[in-house]
Amino acid sequence: MKITTIGYWGAYPAANEATSGYLLQSEGENILIDCGSGVLSNMQNYIELVALDAVILSHYHADHMADIYTLQYAMRILMDLKKRKKPLHIYGHAEDKEFEKLHYYDYTIANAIDERKPLKLGELTIFFNRNVHSDTCFSMRIEKKNKKIVYTADTGWDDTLIKFADKADLLICESSLYNENVGTITGHLSAGEAGKIAAMADVKQLVLSHLPHFGEHDDLLKQARENFDGKIEMAKTGMNWRL
Ligand SMILES: [Zn+2]
Ligand SMILES: [Zn+2]
Repeated sequence: MKITTIGYWGAYPAANEATSGYLLQSEGENILIDCGSGVLSNMQNYIELVALDAVILSHYHADHMADIYTLQYAMRILMDLKKRKKPLHIYGHAEDKEFEKLHYYDYTIANAIDERKPLKLGELTIFFNRNVHSDTCFSMRIEKKNKKIVYTADTGWDDTLIKFADKADLLICESSLYNENVGTITGHLSAGEAGKIAAMADVKQLVLSHLPHFGEHDDLLKQARENFDGKIEMAKTGMNWRL
């Protein structure tokens, strides 16, 4: 499987970039994980919209799903033009009324995710773990054969993440905060905490994402490194990993 960073900013995108969005590709299956602001435009640098099979949303904050509504229009136009034959499946939790809006005529179909039941898409199995965040939000673990990718989406510190990310090949961890911000903003992780999770879960590689619009990003890297000896990278548009 291959995962490509479409967007990595927290809150709002920098010029020509996007907030959270990752394109997961496996055996001809194209799955978008989160669909933040700027993702619809940027994603088209990597695949044509007719080739998108599914979207999985971690939660309904705008920086993770702002482009879902324009993506629905895109599906409508492509299907009306007969360029695309099948509707797009969108997966998200059903604990919020936003869920109903994922359904759009016969163009996009809302599918409820269930943290007790892993989701099977082709050869991929996706597990969910409930986060500590201001609204319901889930981390995801994507497994194929013996490979594991974990994407935290938005979360404050939570011990369950350690087990959930255990021995992951790739941990894409939110790092919205510098260590000095801990305690001032809740529901998000600092770079130091991201490093600590990576070390405690014994992951192979850590990627810092959901990056802030303040401070020096190099400091995030240094703070994560204080706690984790393995490979650490900062998310960048187009950066991808094959597992
Ligand atoms: Zn959020
Ligand atoms: Zn966010």
